[in-house]
Amino acid sequence: MDIKDGFVGTVGNTPLIRLKSFSEETGCEILGKAEFLNPGGSVKDRAALYIIQDAEEKGLLKPGGTVVEGTAGNTGIGLAHICNAKGYKCLIIIPETQSQEKMDALRALGAEVRPVPAVPYRDPNNYVKLSGRIASEMENAIWANQFDNLANRRAHYETTGPEIWKQTDGKVDGWVASTGTGGTFAGTAMYLKEKNPNIKCVVADPMGSGLYSYVKTGEIKIEGNSITEGIGNSRITANMEGVPTDDAIQIDDSEALRVVYQLLQKDGLLMGGSTGINVGAAVALAKQMGPGHTIVTILCDSGARYQSRIFNREWLASKGLSVDA
Ligand code: PMP
Repeated sequence: MDIKDGFVGTVGNTPLIRLKSFSEETGCEILGKAEFLNPGGSVKDRAALYIIQDAEEKGLLKPGGTVVEGTAGNTGIGLAHICNAKGYKCLIIIPETQSQEKMDALRALGAEVRPVPAVPYRDPNNYVKLSGRIASEMENAIWANQFDNLANRRAHYETTGPEIWKQTDGKVDGWVASTGTGGTFAGTAMYLKEKNPNIKCVVADPMGSGLYSYVKTGEIKIEGNSITEGIGNSRITANMEGVPTDDAIQIDDSEALRVVYQLLQKDGLLMGGSTGINVGAAVALAKQMGPGHTIVTILCDSGARYQSRIFNREWLASKGLSVDA
């Protein structure tokens, strides 16, 4: 029998997909880990599950407790699903600038959604810091704290990394991923480097994020902006500290869009914007390394979450962007 044990038992063990058009274009094997096939629809299900299990094991979260997080996207969705499946309550602190669709999705999953004014990270009332304070003032509640909680990258060290190693029989030359919290890139890079230190681990970064300049020069410099969601950062999170990083590649929105539309039209995959950054950077790394190499990246979430944005030509035009086909 091969039966998964509920939502929690269905997280992870995603397929590794050969991206045909990009592999042909580069003469490399460009492989995408299909994280959009997780039961909550994104790579963040793994971190959400590990964060909750870690709090349970430490005795911090008891039956009927509440999981609190400051998040606008996929982590909130993953947490809300797992809270339902495990009998916890879920409280999401969200900047009020976020789309109505996201708030509606979280409310539909049963989370309590508290919109707060959008203020920068240095402000004590920033939504991330606020979520930590609210959790500390509640009984039987935990703060998921995905950016600095190392259970996040441990999820990828213990699951994503080993799965990639097994699925490729250890034949990996490059690992590329964009970072929000950095959990996915970091945990997977730490595992793969332990298996083979020659695997090139490369951060993919959108414009408007400071990681690219940090990896290149040791200084965080932020220029430009991006329509991609869930990735990019202006600080080095605890999850990104001490992580073996060989290089960084910056991908702009027009290249990310070209990739997203090629994935759709030539490979039959409807993906979100961060996947465009990831696959765009995997192609750039393949071109640097030359034909015959195997590069693995992440297919983070489905394009269905961005119908009104990157798959809406009027919205793209309002951002000064267009697609050829
Ligand atoms: N892509 C999307 C769509 C995301 O929501 C996230 C997480 N915010 C990421 C990529 C990056 O994942 P991580 O937090 O593990 O760096």
